Amino acid sequence: MGAGGRECTLAWKLRQSPLCDNLYIAPGNAGTHEYGTNLPIAVSDFEGIKKACLDHQIDILLPGPEDPLVAGIYDFIKADDQLKHIIVAGPSKEGAQLEGSKAFSKRFMQRHGIPTAAYREFTADNYAEGEAYIRQQPIPVVLKADGLAAGKGVVIAQSTDEALTAFRSMIMDRQFGDAGSKVVIEQFLDGIELSVFALTDGRDYALLPEAKDYKRIGEGDTGLNTGGMGAISPVPFADELFMNKVITRIVRPTVDGLRSEGIVYNGFIFFGLIKVQGEPYVIEYNCRMGDPETEVVMPRLENDLVELILLMGQGRLTEGIIKHSAQAAGAVMLVSGGYPGDYAKGKIMTGFQQVQGSMLFHAGTTTRDGNVVTSGGRVLAITSMGRDIKEALAKSYENAAHISYEGCYYRRDIGWEF
Ligand code: ATP
Repeated sequence: MGAGGRECTLAWKLRQSPLCDNLYIAPGNAGTHEYGTNLPIAVSDFEGIKKACLDHQIDILLPGPEDPLVAGIYDFIKADDQLKHIIVAGPSKEGAQLEGSKAFSKRFMQRHGIPTAAYREFTADNYAEGEAYIRQQPIPVVLKADGLAAGKGVVIAQSTDEALTAFRSMIMDRQFGDAGSKVVIEQFLDGIELSVFALTDGRDYALLPEAKDYKRIGEGDTGLNTGGMGAISPVPFADELFMNKVITRIVRPTVDGLRSEGIVYNGFIFFGLIKVQGEPYVIEYNCRMGDPETEVVMPRLENDLVELILLMGQGRLTEGIIKHSAQAAGAVMLVSGGYPGDYAKGKIMTGFQQVQGSMLFHAGTTTRDGNVVTSGGRVLAITSMGRDIKEALAKSYENAAHISYEGCYYRRDIGWEF
């Protein structure tokens, strides 16, 4: 389920499995139909998904984005006698609250001693207390709307006044609607970020290759936040010592915590982490894979993804099961001019045939009159493998130059710090 670069990559990966007889993507894009059949069903249309599951005798359902998970697609499938045999690679509605509610995830981490920034949560009922709390915090201070806000609900305030203004617009002016009726105010952590992924069966887990994404639109990590402008894997600063801390202090306690609380969770957990003076902290959980991280994680994963999902369904995942390529992967995201602000759609894309030695994962693309045209802000991920990040990215950049459409933009400095 889904229509982005992440889903195109998952489709590419699933298609390679000898266990995959048929693959359907709802709704998919101009890239996914190379690997299966696109179905014109929105990810929010559960009845449409149900009909497709029955029509096509679906065995495995893999939701790409968070919205259907937070809206309860897992529970919807499991509550239906005709569908409940389907393996859903995603958490229950309750488990998806790890992403769907910042307050839920912070409380969960606190209960299980998982390292994260110190915080408090506020609503309109204790608004004055919230203002007083803000006044006591060192600057910068971080404010987060509790619910899903498409990555826009986080403010890193550089002054107390800015924090008070953001607090007011979230709680009093309902800037994010219900998503901001509760606000988490937390300590700013100064460090370097990375993403770690696990596939869990609710009992044990398999750890996938880690990745780092580049969120800002501008080179040198400047300008507005985007859905992600590129990614690399492996992450040079995620050494063995650090990853052992991540596993023992974060991944294992998260999986154990979910199980001990009886929260049904079979699927991907995305740990958004920050390394502060050598120590890992959780910035956020997501209840699905990341985009564009998937575009570098899946190409490095040597396991059969269908097999992993089947093992998940049988509760047979283990930590050591994952085999990943020693090669590095680097992805560069081509976007529409103007993104993440307003941008035009429907621009004809050319140059696909000239691309050599890279993988193209379509994101915001569609087909019109026999042409591939742009249909979103993030348009196309170009992923390459290499001996190291530098070699992988050099290949992606070489091929990025072959793709053209009006307004095409990409950052030329993905992986620059390494
Ligand atoms: P996303 O689009 O990544 O899903 P989100 O709205 O779920 O975003 P977070 O991931 O919690 O929000 O925060 C967005 C970004 O803000 C983080 O990737 C990080 O760069 C920054 N950030 C969040 N919390 C903190 C913190 N406590 N200290 C420092 N930076 C932070």
